[in-house]
Amino acid sequence: MSDLIEKLRGLQQVDGEIYQLRRQQESKPLELQEAMARVASQEAKVKAAEAHLKSLQLAQKDKEGELQTREGNVKKLQGQLFQLKTNKEYSTMQHEIDTLKADSSLIEEVILKFFDEIETATKARQQEQQALASIQQEFQVEEKRVKADLAVIQERVGQLQSSRTSALEGIPKPALETYERILNSRYTNGVAMAPLIKESCGGCHRRMPPQVLNEVLIKAKLVICENCNRILYADDEKPTV
Ligand SMILES: [Zn+2]
Repeated sequence: MSDLIEKLRGLQQVDGEIYQLRRQQESKPLELQEAMARVASQEAKVKAAEAHLKSLQLAQKDKEGELQTREGNVKKLQGQLFQLKTNKEYSTMQHEIDTLKADSSLIEEVILKFFDEIETATKARQQEQQALASIQQEFQVEEKRVKADLAVIQERVGQLQSSRTSALEGIPKPALETYERILNSRYTNGVAMAPLIKESCGGCHRRMPPQVLNEVLIKAKLVICENCNRILYADDEKPTV
């Protein structure tokens, strides 16, 4: 029995490490979440900068269209000017033409202003795009690091799995089944074995009744902590380091 406990402890050492590594395998990709969020937020900024630029370009185009229409009207009226008979008609139309021209020069000013705004918006978009490129690069570096870490973990898991095969040798099937059931329970965090520490379970710190302590020391059978369900073993079996 004491031999079995030793074997199970050896197995536990391997399984404990595998358990921790599996958890790392699950949590590692989460380390990318922050970098991914930074990329997404910068992508949104690029999109906003693009939309702003586009709206300015469209507004400018509108004004250019408006200007063209007015200039066309001016030409049309100027063409008609010479067909007029009276001075009054002439001066009325001339006034109309002047008003249209004055409006046109206001529109030209607006269009020029748009040129400045478009230049600024183009620069802003470029800056956001550059920021995105560098954030994407940071993400790729992070991703590479995580992948490298995962490869190291996977290699270690592979080594441990072959260690496990040899650690299994000589453990009777019923004891192994009990052990694995405890190990794989989601309440044990990959720890199926608990030493007695003084008179308490080293897994859950619950004080054990004398009968249980006795059974653990006698080593006639596997003794399980009634509180945390772990297999108890006597602390004096701990190898001295
Ligand atoms: Zn316990």
